[in-house]
Order: sequence, then structure tokens, then C-alpha cells
Amino acid sequence: MAGNKPVLIVAQNEGGRLAPVVFEAVAAARKLTGGASGGVAAVVTGPSGTEAVAKELWTAGVADVYVAEHALLAESRPESHARAVAAAVKQANPSLILVGQTTLGRDLAPYLAALLEAGVIMNAQELRYDSSGATEVVCPIYGGAVQASYTVASSPPSVVGFQPAARSTVEKASGASGRILSVDPGLGEFKDKVKLVKRPVRTGPRLEEAKVVVSGGIGLGDPKNYQGIEELAKVLGGLPGASRAAVDLGYATRAQQVGLTGSRVSPDLYVAVGISGASQHLAGMSTSKVIVAVNTDKKANIFKFARYGVTLDCLEFLPSFIAECRKLKGAS
Ligand SMILES: Cc1cc2nc3c(=O)[nH]c(=O)nc-3n(C[C@H](O)[C@H](O)[C@H](O)COP(=O)(O)OP(=O)(O)OC[C@H]3O[C@@H](n4cnc5c(N)ncnc54)[C@H](O)[C@@H]3O)c2cc1C
Repeated sequence: MAGNKPVLIVAQNEGGRLAPVVFEAVAAARKLTGGASGGVAAVVTGPSGTEAVAKELWTAGVADVYVAEHALLAESRPESHARAVAAAVKQANPSLILVGQTTLGRDLAPYLAALLEAGVIMNAQELRYDSSGATEVVCPIYGGAVQASYTVASSPPSVVGFQPAARSTVEKASGASGRILSVDPGLGEFKDKVKLVKRPVRTGPRLEEAKVVVSGGIGLGDPKNYQGIEELAKVLGGLPGASRAAVDLGYATRAQQVGLTGSRVSPDLYVAVGISGASQHLAGMSTSKVIVAVNTDKKANIFKFARYGVTLDCLEFLPSFIAECRKLKGAS
């Protein structure tokens, strides 16, 4: 722990549940601080009732949880949530602020850094101390081809966007308890400039949390062939994704886009079908545990990242592979 100051986790409250990335950020911070007592604190922002959600952090080993409640925090807006987090930062006096990269977290981190006049680094996957005791933040760059490590300042505390490498099992201790510290979010003068027109409803499992993702790209050749991606994803118990080019051509929906400007996924298995492996696509999936690529071009960039490669026409490959998977599943 740098100078007895904690690492502060910005824990996203997604409508009454904590985003899974929060627990992975806690695990990374606890590893950094060696599990020291008081080494990791958290802040949860939301409307009245958020305190109940915050208590789950105790089970992950976070004893001090700062809670800012306000009606304006019911909506996922970086402007209001960053203000509330900044108020908690004043109380907690952390050495580092770790923001889970949810949709809100990605927008909130730079807002918060601007409010604190601090630096910000996104896409961190690992935290460690260097030989002088300064904190180093490790982030993949160039679509995961290179690991960059940055030494960050602790005063003012740097804001770090956290993107886990591959889904890990986070241990929780049931029955653990700690403290809830109330924070005044300082939103008395705050005027929301955004008018809510329509709130998109998100139902069902989330791509970012899937253990298996099967994505289709332009190599599918026609929107109707995306059905094969959906089928394979279903057989493997996963979810279908897509490259941006495939989304732009209407093969899949915007919510299914994986990449820099889409969802960031880190499943156990990622199957890229007819996808070239552009850096913007890799930015969203290169940290998957096992990548399988299907592409007719042996020199496609995706093969540099794949553990298993198939150089067949995907329209030939998909039906027979789906049939084989079905057979294996039926046999088990
Ligand atoms: C600012 C910015 C943000 C972006 N954000 C994203 C993003 O979030 N996500 C994203 O994906 N992209 C993003 N892009 C776009 C990105 O640069 C690429 O254009 C896109 O990823 C390419 O999609 P693709 O791999 O499906 O298509 P292509 O690059 O056209 O690749 C198609 C591949 O299919 C193979 N193929 C062709 N026929 C077959 C067949 N029959 N069987 C098997 N393989 C076949 C080809 O060999 C080729 O490798 C972004 C670009 C910019 C500029």
C-alpha cells in the first residue's frame, strides 16, 4: 500500500447489481497491496438504496465502502457520477483510483481525471510495484500485440480504467462485514444537460460476460449466413458477436459489435469467423483465453493471435463443425 493510502475501486452499480468487472478490479488491487488490511476501498454511487448493493463488496475483501446516494445518480451519466466519485476521493485519500471499464466506467474515468486534475490511463490489465515502490500499470496496446507499462503518480491519485485480461474466478467470503461510509455527492448545484429521450432496454445475457463468443465478419459474404454464427454460438453455450464491418452491412446488430468501438470481451473461447483481425477488432477480444480463427487467407492478421486456425471457406466449415459439436454434445 503506497504510504498507507488505499487503492479506491469505483464500483459500478448496474441497476441494483455490481458489474462483474468490479470484483476483478478488487482482485487486482488486493494482489497489488498484498491483501493488506485497509489496502483496498471502494465507492458505489446510485440512487437511494445503493447501500444494500455496496455491502456485497465486503464479501470480496473490501472493508471500507463509500456510498454516495442521490436521485440524479439513478441515471448512468458520467457527469453526475464523476462528481460523486470525486467527493468520495476527497474522503478516502487514495493512492490510485481503479475504474471498471463498463459502458459508464469508460466515460466516467476521463471525466473524473479532469475533475481531479489527475492523469488517466485506460485498458489496464495488471497492477504492480516497480523496484522503487511506484505503481506500474500494464496495458495492452496495438491490439494486444505489445504490453505497455506506465509508472503512475499517486498524488494526485491517477485514474486507471481496468479491463481484465481473462475472466478469473473471484473468491468471495460470505458473512464478511466492513464499514459503509456515507458521502455527500455534492450535486446540489448540478444541472443535468442531457435530456433522456429513450432508455435502451438490455435484457438477457451480456456479451462482455459470456464465456464463449462466436463472431462473424465480412467473410460470411451475406447477412443470411450470420445464422451459422448464431447456431454455433448456441451449440457452444455462448453468444454471437460481429466485426464492425459486418454490423455496418447489417449482418448483426450494433450491440453485437466487438472491438474498440463495440464491446470488449475476454471469454474462455473466442471464435472469429471470416474476420481479418484489424487492430480495432483485436482491441475488443485479443485478451480472450483461446482464440480460434477461420479465414481463407493464411496471412490474415487474426492468425497471429489465434491458438487454432482453420483456412477453409467458412461456409463450408460452419455446417460440418456445428454438426460435429452437436454430436460431441449429444455423446457427453
Ligand atoms: C475508429 C475506428 C473504430 C473501429 N472500431 C471497430 C470495432 O469496434 N470493431 C471492429 O470489428 N472493427 C472496427 N473498426 C473497423 C476495422 O478497422 C475493420 O474495418 C473491421 O474490423 C473489418 O471487419 P472484418 O474483419 O469483418 O472485414 P475484413 O477486414 O474485410 O475481413 C474479412 C476477412 O474474411 C476473410 N474471408 C473472406 N471470405 C471468406 C470465407 N469464405 N471464409 C473465411 N474467411 C473469409 C478474408 O480473408 C478477410 O480476412 C474500426 C475502424 C475505425 C477507423
